[in-house]
Amino acid sequence: MRRGVAVALLALGAAIAPTTVEAQQAGVDVSRYRFALSLPDTGKVIRAEAQVQFTRTRTVDALRLDLLAPMALRGATLGCDNKATAVAATHERGVITVPLPAFTKSARAANDPRAMEPLDSLCVTVRYDGAPTDGLVISTDTAGRWRAFGDNWPNRARHWLASVDHPSDKALVEFVVDAPSARTVVANGTQRAQVPQGGRTRTTWATASPIPTYLMVIAAAPLTVTELGQTACGLASVGRCVPQRVYTAPEQAAAMPGNFAQADSIVAFFSRLVGPFPYEQLAHLQSSTRFGGMENAGAIFYNDALFRTPAGVSVGLIAHEVAHQWFGNAVTEAEWGQLWLSEGFATYFAALYTEKAFGDSAFRAEREGIRRTILGAKVVTERPVIDSTQTDLLALLNANSYQKGGFVLHMLRREVGDSAFFRGVRAYWTPRVHGNARTEDLRAVMEREVGRDLSWFFDQWLRRPGFAELTVRYAYDAARRQVKVIVEQGTRFAPYRFPLVLEFTMDDGSTRVAFVNVPARAIAEITLRETFERTPTSMRVDPTVELLAEIRTP
Ligand SMILES: [Zn+2]
Repeated sequence: MRRGVAVALLALGAAIAPTTVEAQQAGVDVSRYRFALSLPDTGKVIRAEAQVQFTRTRTVDALRLDLLAPMALRGATLGCDNKATAVAATHERGVITVPLPAFTKSARAANDPRAMEPLDSLCVTVRYDGAPTDGLVISTDTAGRWRAFGDNWPNRARHWLASVDHPSDKALVEFVVDAPSARTVVANGTQRAQVPQGGRTRTTWATASPIPTYLMVIAAAPLTVTELGQTACGLASVGRCVPQRVYTAPEQAAAMPGNFAQADSIVAFFSRLVGPFPYEQLAHLQSSTRFGGMENAGAIFYNDALFRTPAGVSVGLIAHEVAHQWFGNAVTEAEWGQLWLSEGFATYFAALYTEKAFGDSAFRAEREGIRRTILGAKVVTERPVIDSTQTDLLALLNANSYQKGGFVLHMLRREVGDSAFFRGVRAYWTPRVHGNARTEDLRAVMEREVGRDLSWFFDQWLRRPGFAELTVRYAYDAARRQVKVIVEQGTRFAPYRFPLVLEFTMDDGSTRVAFVNVPARAIAEITLRETFERTPTSMRVDPTVELLAEIRTP
């Protein structure tokens, strides 16, 4: 996502409570949720029934589902069909505990030679109700109309969805939403049914691929749809094209599609670069998300206020949220401490779209802006990008996860070369679609691409705080017609190893570019191999903004 527009952040700053890092429930793997929700005409009380289909290992004798007060458990059954039997579940300190029957090894597990441990397959139903204080955000819009939007990142799904609320347990999701007919209901996946009955309508949406709980959302609001049509044809993973549409408040519909006219080209660009668009379709919604944009799978939610400005939602924000459909959504970080695999990729791939749409100098300017943010961020000097000790998940929305993660991808591309980089990105992404990933997976595929060790690269840029601090000088030996470059690294952070681009201007006004490999040493003296027939009069260090460094030239 992108952090909120300034106004929204100020208003919400006080409401954001610290959250804690929790592991996935060991031995449990949810495969499918079905949430049947009944929404009110007025007020905030919702009624819900969650069916949770899962496998477990032999050692698991209870299913634990996250669900925070004031949502209250009303009953639970073992089974999700008409043979279900009541079970005495408890609900304490934000966790529903459902005792499970004795383990029975399923035929599927017995036939699966890859199963390390025997698994059986169960379904549990829980019913609950209450007025959620977060997660499903119920409010009225500026015209006083009732509306509800899911807003789960990072672990706020548990305010309204009884679930194993961790990004490593992805599952299919089906929403069956009963709401007054005047509201349009949108959720992840595709709409499967719409049944009106006495002023109310029951709308069913379901996904064809598993997604993490932080992306499972509904919208129920007065919304007007603007079709963007069949986009990215020939580049879809489901069907031939990617249907896209924009949902706005009725008042904003006239200004559509606005920058969403570029959504076709954005989806096509990433599909060609990475792999086919991973979901059935893509909706863009005006919503009440606290963030600037939130990349919910197949249904991106944008901040309401952006639609009320003359410029509308920016191309950069659309590209960022669309890039997340590949990175973060389809391939999800296995733990929150590796958030850069989501936000760093979205930041860099949005910048790559800048290059495609607006050219080289716009891309360079974006890298300059990204680097400026990194060099000015205190958190970058204090914590590494891969930050497994941060327990306040909202604090991970920082310049490390976004800008530094993004810039590290650019340096990785420079380190391994363009073709190895994009082949590596595809080799990282393709086998992990609808699964999870870790930084080590990315390192392994990139090492395979180039046939050499890259652990030093990943360690220095991702597992240590900081950035390179350089003082670069040169000396010209007129007799030998040679240039010696002296690179001195600051002492705040351990020395880095990197390739460096230098641009010399000669005494006749001509310029020439030289490349040097700088070793991880406090001071390195490097004599350029090429001879200089003319005398250099000045030197620019990293003129094309390739290196994460604060650069001083005396
Ligand atoms: Zn993002």
